Amino acid sequence: MSGPILGIDLGTTNSLVGLVDTGFPVLIPDDEGRRILPSVVHFHPGTAPTVGESAKRARLTHPAEVIGSAKRLMGRRTADGPADSGGWGYQVRPGPDGRWGIDLPHGWTPPETIAAAILRELKRRAEAYLGRDIHRAVITVPAYFHDAQRQATKRAGELAGLTVERILNEPTAAALAYGLSRNQAGRYAVFDLGGGTFDLSILEQKEGVFRVLSTCGDTRLGGDDLDAAITEELQRRVHAELGPEAAIHSRPTLRQNAESLKIDLSQRESVQADFPFLWQGQSWSTTLDRSWLEQEASRVFANIPNLCRRALSDAGVDPADLDDVLLVGGQTRMPWIRTLASELFHQEPNTSVDPDEAVALGATIQAGMLEGSLRGVVLLDVTPLSLGIETFGGLMNVILPRNSTIPCKAGEQFTSAVDSQPGVRIKILQGERELAKDNWELGQFDLPFPPAPRGVPRVGVQFSIDADGILTVLGRDLTTGSEQTLEIRTAVDVDDVQVEAMVSQSVEHALQDMAERQWVEARLGAERAITMTRKALAILGTQVSGPEQADVARLLNAVETALRTRDPRQLKESLRALDEGTKPLADRLMSRLP
Ligand code: AMP
Repeated sequence: MSGPILGIDLGTTNSLVGLVDTGFPVLIPDDEGRRILPSVVHFHPGTAPTVGESAKRARLTHPAEVIGSAKRLMGRRTADGPADSGGWGYQVRPGPDGRWGIDLPHGWTPPETIAAAILRELKRRAEAYLGRDIHRAVITVPAYFHDAQRQATKRAGELAGLTVERILNEPTAAALAYGLSRNQAGRYAVFDLGGGTFDLSILEQKEGVFRVLSTCGDTRLGGDDLDAAITEELQRRVHAELGPEAAIHSRPTLRQNAESLKIDLSQRESVQADFPFLWQGQSWSTTLDRSWLEQEASRVFANIPNLCRRALSDAGVDPADLDDVLLVGGQTRMPWIRTLASELFHQEPNTSVDPDEAVALGATIQAGMLEGSLRGVVLLDVTPLSLGIETFGGLMNVILPRNSTIPCKAGEQFTSAVDSQPGVRIKILQGERELAKDNWELGQFDLPFPPAPRGVPRVGVQFSIDADGILTVLGRDLTTGSEQTLEIRTAVDVDDVQVEAMVSQSVEHALQDMAERQWVEARLGAERAITMTRKALAILGTQVSGPEQADVARLLNAVETALRTRDPRQLKESLRALDEGTKPLADRLMSRLP
């Protein structure tokens, strides 16, 4: 598919959309020039949903129909833990598929539907700007989003009529926006404090690839909490000056104004808050100081230093090792937050990019790269499923684990299982299951080698995936140097639904699969022990007395019986007995060695 690709920051509080226009990434404004779209949707029975500022306004009159912060519910299963509306007036409840959703007047609604309404609005905005239809997008998600959350985001894109070309981690998008490119190897902290969430990610850029080394955060901490603290304080003052009833009734108005008071305090030392006709025709005003707000901030954001220190220690990075600290999220405009970041990381943070726009800008740069209209920036992708080969006993041997950052390379050495084996068949597998037969076969080839006793031939198998997602499997006989390669183009581009099915099957069958793997490994060990014992008997010949032979035969028989009955405990016992019982034979063999 070709055509323009949108870069979308689908945020908890706000969303933005951009595209590359005549070689430059631009964020697209609405008719009134606003680039930020509040991530709020109003579902009113009988009418089409509205999105953005107008939906936000409807919160006062129709709290149960107005959905904000739906991102907190995206892809979340009831098994992940409890969920709520994050202070909004709607109800959250489990849906038929074991996922959290929203109770709306027209019925249970999954969070993807809300996200899709926001994406549709962004798509519409971009189409109006460009004057043509758009069907492709890059969408950002928090670095800690698990697979189901990423898949839900993709589904939301599809519901909105967009093919999601890539899901990009938000800190990586921010790094792209801050202009970190291929030649700026280093380590970076991305400090992202938005309306409803805090994320601190440590990124590394090496050989043109961004890697998230660690991420810590709090999905329930952000500027909204400071707005709530301001509301509390205003309400306390109204209570003291106008009485309890006034305090209860004026709360929504106070809440509505708290955010702009907070924003003003980023510019000024003190602000006067005027509320005309607040209660029964009575106007009211009060003054808030920056020093008071900073005190509140140190209480509300008390956990941020711990989270930052944890992210640094998880990544094994010292603040002195950081090349830059990038600020993202509207709340980082607050001077107190900037000072906090500089104290935590022992350096002045980089504020050269608008913190509200960094993620969307990065998504747009990535979109431009995919489109081919921007060059010189890294591409980033991960393997959707594990890749490996089949080994003895029909087991999956993983070489490149799922979520390996592309480009990547890894290899392993193997040997033969039986004497005089003429070669090996290398079967390339993809999937998360323990047994080869349950994974998908991507291809196979034979690598012949000269006959030799088992365990002597050495075969190296290497998997490498280049920046275009092409997998090359190399098999080499390390003794003769002869080699074979196979190129596979379908290893990275896998249908999401299939990926999701594979992952959920592996979770479903985890215990059973593991038991099967353990059994196969034990069986292979037992077969090896049987072969070794028979060999020892043959070599020693008449040196083994009749009663000794009978003893060993009995022990071998017990192992063979355990193999037939598939009883792991019995197999372990009989192997231990065989091991004990054949010690004298092993000693005699050893003494024959020169
Ligand atoms: P985001 O989720 O990144 O869009 O961030 C939105 C949050 O940033 C909201 O809580 C806003 O109130 C807050 N915010 C935006 N601008 C400022 C500012 N100048 N000072 C303080 N907070 C701000």
